[in-house]
Amino acid sequence: MKKYDLLDDLIHGKITPDEADDICSGVLADTTLNIPAHEALGLTKVEWTAYAHGADFQEVADWRQHGWPDRCFVCGGRIKPESFGWLAREHNGKTQLKHVTCPKDGDHTET
Ligand SMILES: [Zn+2]
Repeated sequence: MKKYDLLDDLIHGKITPDEADDICSGVLADTTLNIPAHEALGLTKVEWTAYAHGADFQEVADWRQHGWPDRCFVCGGRIKPESFGWLAREHNGKTQLKHVTCPKDGDHTET
């Protein structure tokens, strides 16, 4: 079974973002896969989670290369990507991170 290093290939221009999507579709459709799809693609769990939230591979590749966003775009508070507890959402035209439970989120359901 072929294993990929999808983000590194993007970073080094070996594949285009479209090709990355095609490779991902192929891996997800591969019923003989005996490891998690993100492992076959060479993504960490954190990177895969961001992708699952709607970030595209190019954005996640940029984060791997240049560093992840470490601030919540709603409250400005610190986010540690590797500890989860965030959502990747589009904000000002690019994907950014916000707390799952953000102190500045409009509706406060907690008491
Ligand atoms: Zn926040």
